[in-house]
Amino acid sequence: MRYSAWKIFKEGLTGNKGWTPAWREPEPKAEYDIVIVGGGGHGLSTAYYLAKEFGEKNVAVVEKGWLGSGNIGRNTTIIRSNYLLEGNQPFYEFSLKLWEGLEQDFNYNAMVSQRGILNLIHSDPQRDAFVRRGNAMRLSGADAEILGPAEIRKMCPFLDYDNARFPIQGAIWQPRGGTVRHDAVAWGYARGADARGVDIIQNCEVTGFLMENGTCTGVETAKGTIRAKKVAVCVAGSSSRVMEKAGMRLPIESHVLQAFVSEGLKPVIPGVITFGAGHFYVSQSDKGGLVFGGDIDGYNTYAQRGNLPVVEDVCEGGMAIMPMIGRARLLRMWGGVMDMSMDGSPFIDKTHIEGLYFNGGWCYGGFKATPASGYCYAHLLATDRPHDTAQHYRLDRFRRGAPIDEKGQGAQPNLH
Ligand SMILES: Cc1cc2nc3c(=O)[nH]c(=O)nc-3n(C[C@H](O)[C@H](O)[C@H](O)COP(=O)(O)OP(=O)(O)OC[C@H]3O[C@@H](n4cnc5c(N)ncnc54)[C@H](O)[C@@H]3O)c2cc1C
Repeated sequence: MRYSAWKIFKEGLTGNKGWTPAWREPEPKAEYDIVIVGGGGHGLSTAYYLAKEFGEKNVAVVEKGWLGSGNIGRNTTIIRSNYLLEGNQPFYEFSLKLWEGLEQDFNYNAMVSQRGILNLIHSDPQRDAFVRRGNAMRLSGADAEILGPAEIRKMCPFLDYDNARFPIQGAIWQPRGGTVRHDAVAWGYARGADARGVDIIQNCEVTGFLMENGTCTGVETAKGTIRAKKVAVCVAGSSSRVMEKAGMRLPIESHVLQAFVSEGLKPVIPGVITFGAGHFYVSQSDKGGLVFGGDIDGYNTYAQRGNLPVVEDVCEGGMAIMPMIGRARLLRMWGGVMDMSMDGSPFIDKTHIEGLYFNGGWCYGGFKATPASGYCYAHLLATDRPHDTAQHYRLDRFRRGAPIDEKGQGAQPNLH
C-alpha cells in the first residue's frame, strides 16, 4: 500500500477500514541467502537496501525483541555530518544525503527536520579546532559556517553568553543537521523491506551460529535453525555477546548512555545545540519536550538504565549554557547500551570466518549513520567489497596502526 495525502483523505471518508499492517509476521523459512541478526535501524536499513539497490530478496531479519526496542528507539535523534577525519567525513555526508531523500524513497513520514546544529565554542584553541573541522567538511562537500556571538544571540537569545567559566565565543553551524523521529525510521525501513519480500521475524533471539568446516552456514534461534549463505550481525550494544557465540572477541566495550525529556514547552530551541566545554546536547521535539543528554556513564554494563552522577553531570552542563532549563521539569529518562569501540569509530566488515559479517561499534553516534550504514553493509554483503565511503571501517585497523580516532582520545572507549 502506498501512503499519500489522497489515501488519508479517502480512508477518512470510508471509516479507516482500508489500512493494512505495515509489515507481515512470517514464520522463518528453513533457508535464506542472507540472514541479518538484529532488527534495529541498521539491520532494517541493510535489508531495505539489499532488496532495493542490490536485488537481494531472499533475506530475513531476525530480531530478539520487537522492532524499535533497541537503540533505534532510544536515541536523542540527532543527525549531522560534522566530522573531521578522512575515514569518517565522506561516510557521514553520504548518510546525510540519504536522510535528505529518505521519506520520498521509502514512502514513510520519518519527520526528517533539518533545523541545523550549533556546536558552541568557548575558547581560542577550540575555535581553531572547529575552523579546521569546518574546512574539512567543506572540502568534502558538506556545509559548515563559523558564527560569532552576535549571530548566535539572534538565533538563541536564552543562552548564557557571559558565563565566567564558559563564555560563548562562537559556534560552528551546520544548517543541514537536525533531528529525525527515531522509531519511524525503523518502521519505514521495515515496511519498505517487507514490501520487497524481506521476512522480518520478531521475538526470535539468535542463540548461536551454525559452523561447518570453519564456515558460518546459518543461525540457531528461538524458533529453530535457519540456514543462510551469509550471516550479517548487526546488534549494536549486544555485539560482544553475540559475536562471542562465534568465538570472536571484539575491540568493543558496552556502556550505558542516558537520555532525558522535559515537560512540553512552547517552541524555544530552533535546532540542536551542543555545549563545547562539557558534554551536553539539546533539541526540542515537535511535542515541545526538551530532549537532551551528555556522556555515557563510564563503566562497562549491559543494563539499560544509568545512575545519578551522570544525571547530575548532564544537568550541570545544561545549566552552564542555558540556565532557564532549570525551570523545566524532567518528564522521562532512559538508557541504552552502546557498543563503544576503542577509537570511537565503527566497523562494517567481513570477519575471518567465511560467511560471517559484522556491523557495529557505533558508540553513541550510530543513529545519524543508519542510512549509510545499511547501504554500505548491503553493498558489502552483495558484492563482497567495501563501499568506497566505508572502506576504513575494517576490523584489522588497530593491527595495521590505522585507528580512526575522531576525538584524539586514544584507546579509551569510555572517553569517545
Ligand atoms: C540515549 C541514547 C542517545 C543517542 N543519541 C544519538 C544521537 O542523537 N545521534 C546518533 O547518531 N546516535 C545516537 N545514539 C546511538 C544510536 O542510537 C545507535 O548507535 C544506533 O541506534 C545503533 O544501531 P541500531 O539502530 O541498529 O541498534 P539497535 O536498535 O539497538 O538494534 C540492535 C538490535 O539487535 C537486537 N539483538 C540483540 N541481540 C540479539 C540476538 N541475539 N538475536 C537477535 N537480535 C538481537 C536488539 O534487540 C536490537 O533490536 C544514541 C543512543 C542512545 C542509547
